[in-house]
Amino acid sequence: MRRGRLVLALAAAATLTLAGCSSGDGGDDADADAGATSEATEETGGAEGTIKIGIKFDQPGLGYQDGSEYTGFDVDVAKFVAGELGYGEDQIEWVQAPSAQRETLLQNGQVDMIFATYSITDKRKEVVSFGGPYFVAGQDLLVAADDDSISGPEDLEGKNLCSVTGSTSAQRIKDEYAAGTNLLEQPGYAECVTALTAGTVDAVTTDDIILAGLAAVPANEGKVKVVGNPFSEENYGVGIAKDSDKCEAINEAITKMIDDGTWQELLDKNVGASGYVANDELNPPTPAACA
Ligand code: GLU
Repeated sequence: MRRGRLVLALAAAATLTLAGCSSGDGGDDADADAGATSEATEETGGAEGTIKIGIKFDQPGLGYQDGSEYTGFDVDVAKFVAGELGYGEDQIEWVQAPSAQRETLLQNGQVDMIFATYSITDKRKEVVSFGGPYFVAGQDLLVAADDDSISGPEDLEGKNLCSVTGSTSAQRIKDEYAAGTNLLEQPGYAECVTALTAGTVDAVTTDDIILAGLAAVPANEGKVKVVGNPFSEENYGVGIAKDSDKCEAINEAITKMIDDGTWQELLDKNVGASGYVANDELNPPTPAACA
């Protein structure tokens, strides 16, 4: 049942993606822009130069590098926010932002903003600032499809678990559930899922929305399942340099995106295919006041 639905949903997503490529409004607008000055076309909203945006490259449905294309909810939210800041899509430079490198990338000015399933935490706020949140996920577990021995983090004793270095997911396991659990840390969640399907680990832990995207990939389909018992609240923020002046404008853009229906549209388009359903008591969130 579930399998069939996922396959159909993925096929639908593929169709949407293709439709997006062929029916985009790029052609006409490009012609129209050719005669305009480069610094102030309607398309770019007037910002000059480029903006460097950090995303994940390996999280299907969220931030994913597909050849020369970048897809996912984080990517689309980033495009919307950048647009509101005056940057057209052709002014965006996408930069890979693995979990463990996000603060450093912002501190060194290697990126201007990060949209990468990046939870707002007090610890991170000591060194970077955040706009948002624009989404709330929850930490969960991914296990083998036929494994009924793990229904929550309390069942991890004696198990081999995989998560990602520098993530709140790995940190929470160390802080709260470490006793008796053998934690393997990898650079990305895709590596963890490979370890799970190979039988090297018993479970993978991170945010439910990330796990759902990985579980829906054709190669993993039918082999793994999301437990569906979230045990944290992960408020996804837009990472910016500490005390950056972009926070207010980012929050205005997020509020607009939620109010005009774009947020729901982008979520459905990118994540709907995985079968993931957002917690509607927590979503959509209201951006917090900028510090
Ligand atoms: N949202 C969590 C975090 O920011 C886990 C996902 C990730 O590693 O990107 O650490």
